[in-house]
Amino acid sequence: MNAEIIAVGTELLMGQVINTNASFLSRELSLLGIDVYHQVVVGDNPKRLLEAIQVAEQRSDLVILSGGLGPTKDDITKQILANHLAKELVLDKSTMDKIIDYHENRKRTMSENNRLQAMVIEGSTILKNKTGLAAGMFLKEKSKAFILLPGPPNELEPMFINEVKPLLRGEPKEETHLISKVLRFFDIGESQLAAELDDLIEEQKNPTLATYAGKHEVRLRITANGSTAAACYLLLDNMEATIQQRIGDYFYGYGEDARLVNVVADLLKEQKMTLTAAESLTGGAFQSCMTSVSGASDYFKGGIVTYSNEVKTAILGVSKKTIEKFGAVSAECSIEMAKNAQQMFNTNIALSFTGVAGPSRLEKKEVGTVWIGVAIKGETAFAKEYHLGKGRDSNREKSIMSGLDLIRRVLLDLPIQQKVFEKIND
Ligand code: ATP
Ligand code: MG
Repeated sequence: MNAEIIAVGTELLMGQVINTNASFLSRELSLLGIDVYHQVVVGDNPKRLLEAIQVAEQRSDLVILSGGLGPTKDDITKQILANHLAKELVLDKSTMDKIIDYHENRKRTMSENNRLQAMVIEGSTILKNKTGLAAGMFLKEKSKAFILLPGPPNELEPMFINEVKPLLRGEPKEETHLISKVLRFFDIGESQLAAELDDLIEEQKNPTLATYAGKHEVRLRITANGSTAAACYLLLDNMEATIQQRIGDYFYGYGEDARLVNVVADLLKEQKMTLTAAESLTGGAFQSCMTSVSGASDYFKGGIVTYSNEVKTAILGVSKKTIEKFGAVSAECSIEMAKNAQQMFNTNIALSFTGVAGPSRLEKKEVGTVWIGVAIKGETAFAKEYHLGKGRDSNREKSIMSGLDLIRRVLLDLPIQQKVFEKIND
């Protein structure tokens, strides 16, 4: 069975309200093994709504309409559908009683419009609304099914879960499962990732692959369908293994909720490593990010913000000569910052951040030039240069993520490209 969602409301077209109903319904339908092939948004306009219904019933088995069941003039969904199906609107007694009760309890007078809310399409199954007044409807007509749901998400969502799901489960449908997995990647662009997986994307059938550019990262959704959940997981696992083999170095976590900082926190904890940071362009934001994870005191000892050159030398002990000769935004300075912080806080790992966040150039270096230094106790110290963008906030954020990713790579013993000035950290 395939479905189409028509979200009705001019406010959606105007961008004033985000169409969360469509994403909720798509998610829920996929869990029921029902494919959503189309999502449509249409304004509160009779002609265009009718057109949307006509198109939908041609191509979809199940048409779900959200919105426009309320008492106001612009709520037209059930009237338009009833006309189109040549059906009458009839009074639903239980909805009417509920509306009367609602007004009596609140000592409000009922208007004629409220009566309209109790009118339903003849022959439909009523979907109870536990959080509002408008009844939902389910009806079948010539092998097509229509579902009408109220617009407010706090009414639509429980109505779907409590009323629609059991109905759909009872519908004869193919027993298919649709299961997705999201992989998260950092430090690889969407186009590079797509190029690495070109043949897989080209030949995709089951599972399917979709890439999404996220904020400073790329997400890859793998979706498998099969007659059992186990069959889906097998397909997902095989596909993931191939992907990991090619670009596993950039992979950091699963699912929409994964955060690089949590991944790093877990690795530090597992390996019983401690961390500090000396920050210039990020002004403490890296340390703030680290300490946003509860239990951070297990591995994060503290750190230092050395924003001015004076503080870099006087407090962190970076040599004046280094700054005079190479500038504060340099491999040399970032390595000294990291090494000195590592000693000062006596941790296993220290990071340093120095760069040109913007908007103006510094030391004749372009905006977005960032050096991150890494010092590992008793092992090595090195620096890596980044050329980020023009936005100050985004440069600071991306620097933090890059620093986290460097720690991830160090702890997992993964290659780090373009390291410079690697030397023994004594
Ligand atoms: P009401 O009885 O509140 O008028 P209704 O069924 O007529 O309900 P609408 O008038 O279309 O629904 O929408 C009511 C409110 O619900 C909108 O102002 C909006 O905030 C929210 N809403 C409507 N459609 C959506 C949607 N697709 N996604 C998220 N929110 C929505
Ligand atoms: Mg309304």
